[in-house]
Amino acid sequence: MPLLVMKFGGTSVATLDRIRRAAKRVGREVANGYDVIVIVSAMAGKTNELVGWVEETSPLFDAREYDAVVSSGENVTAGLMALTLQEMDVPARSWQGWQVPLKTSPVHAAARIEEIPTHNINTKFAEGMKVAVVAGFQGVTEEGRIATLGRGGSDTTAVAFAAAFGAERCDIYTDVDGVYTTDPRISSKARKLDKIAFEEMLELASLGAKVLQTRSVELAMRYKVPLRVLSSFEEYDPNAGTLVCDEEEIMESNVVSGVAYSRDEAKVTLVSVADRPGVAAAIFGTLSDGGVNVDMIIQNISEEGRTDMTFSCPTNQVARADRAVQEAREKGLINYHDVVVDNDVCKISVVGIGMRSHTGVAAQMFDALSSEGINIKVITTSEIKISVLIDRKYLELAVQALHDAFGLEKAG
Ligand code: ADP
Ligand code: ASP
Ligand code: MG
Repeated sequence: MPLLVMKFGGTSVATLDRIRRAAKRVGREVANGYDVIVIVSAMAGKTNELVGWVEETSPLFDAREYDAVVSSGENVTAGLMALTLQEMDVPARSWQGWQVPLKTSPVHAAARIEEIPTHNINTKFAEGMKVAVVAGFQGVTEEGRIATLGRGGSDTTAVAFAAAFGAERCDIYTDVDGVYTTDPRISSKARKLDKIAFEEMLELASLGAKVLQTRSVELAMRYKVPLRVLSSFEEYDPNAGTLVCDEEEIMESNVVSGVAYSRDEAKVTLVSVADRPGVAAAIFGTLSDGGVNVDMIIQNISEEGRTDMTFSCPTNQVARADRAVQEAREKGLINYHDVVVDNDVCKISVVGIGMRSHTGVAAQMFDALSSEGINIKVITTSEIKISVLIDRKYLELAVQALHDAFGLEKAG
């Protein structure tokens, strides 16, 4: 039997009515002759509520218990989806991660999928089950503890199942009808893309476009899983949505294909550190050991053998960064005069494969921002993206200005 993976995000299973709607789509694919693996998220808002309960109970929580709590939202929707399908006379059953068993690394709250044995589910398909409904976002460690895959992780569950079972396609049903040139909630001029290259989607996701979890795009690219993003609210259309595919499958595209943003960034400066070999290694080694995800880095020109070292990280990691550098200073591992934190910045990025062969994109980006009077605080570039750190109050303005400057409302 050909097989499809269909993933429904939180808004698509937010109420019993919406679960029924999603189940109807699944029923249609079964009628079309497919076996289906359905991956469900928790009902919209549920995971946030669970995370809030954990943080209120225990601010420095044990990540294993965090996972035990926050994984539970998906258990509810998996069971409800299976029941809804049964009510429609579609043979279905639910599976929690450990029942599959989806095996993960022991890094709680950010676990990686290590293995998905197909035997248990395939045995049930062979016995006549048409739909396996699997709770997304969760798995089980070697030790037998429940682990979650990081926020947005159900996308990754879906792609991993598609790869493991050799699915014809992985369809991600969400609350927008595809991948846009930028977040359609920020710019009304955002344009839906029919196709986007894996590499561009990977950059957009890792730079903040949360429509797909970054790791899900990595897996789709590695295992060549055709990945489609589409809306669960629109009428059935076999050509709907955006296909994430190989670059070669895309005929025309703009130099810049999308603008991404990450709202909650902080800029941290260690003032007056010694400018000599080994200092950067000591500082960033300290931060890495402290569990801080450092993103951008700049080092100023030094004066009299001392310099300032600036880096960015998510705002919710500033306290951790501060503690890590203070402890390292007390132990004499690093030395600085002061720590200056700017908590009110955001990161804006432009992404496009076309940048490989076009020059002047950075100049055009900086020009567009300066025309709006927006000051750039930090810049980083790679082959197909340019990112800047700016004051958070300019986020919407900057996204719109860049969308206009690169003509993204029109196809290239
Ligand atoms: P789900 O709950 O279905 O997983 P998410 O909220 O995780 O949905 O992701 C969908 C959201 O991603 C959209 O509502 C949209 O606001 C946001 N988004 C950000 N950037 C983009 C983009 N470039 N294209 C489409 N959606 C985007
Ligand atoms: N429910 C989880 C979250 O909100 C996983 C997901 O929806 O992908 O992060
Ligand atoms: Mg999501």
